[in-house]
Amino acid sequence: MSTLTGRFAEKMGDRSVVHDVRVLGDFVQIWCDGHHSGEPRRPADTPAARLGVYGRKRPTLCVECEAHLAYAEARRAYCPKDPKPFCAHCDTHCYRSEERAWQQQMMRYSGPKSWRKGHAVDGIKHVLEARKWRREKARRSAEAAATTGKDES
Ligand SMILES: [Zn+2]
Repeated sequence: MSTLTGRFAEKMGDRSVVHDVRVLGDFVQIWCDGHHSGEPRRPADTPAARLGVYGRKRPTLCVECEAHLAYAEARRAYCPKDPKPFCAHCDTHCYRSEERAWQQQMMRYSGPKSWRKGHAVDGIKHVLEARKWRREKARRSAEAAATTGKDES
């Protein structure tokens, strides 16, 4: 347990991890603002927040969103990929399926709104990567279809 905690803390000292985790925090904040503004909320007390990753911009979340954020922080910290693709396009499915579904709907909601909140660059990168990923997927299924066609004739 102590080694895991040590590794988490070490990763939270990495600039790109800090960047990604802060973006995640902002995204979850947008989601929580839009869906749970009537719930009791408090400054998120996640492992990354305790390490000061969010600085003074600690997200204010309900307990449900706080748990999702804590989960995503850990997945980001222990991601073995470098450079890391956006989780939505990654072929390593390290998220539990229900967390993955939650993150996808959260990203779809918060992504476009984040453009107005200073994440234009991340938003654009996300769109470009999504496009690349869709092309790659189309290419692969076209190849698969061609192979299947050959087999059938
Ligand atoms: Zn919430």
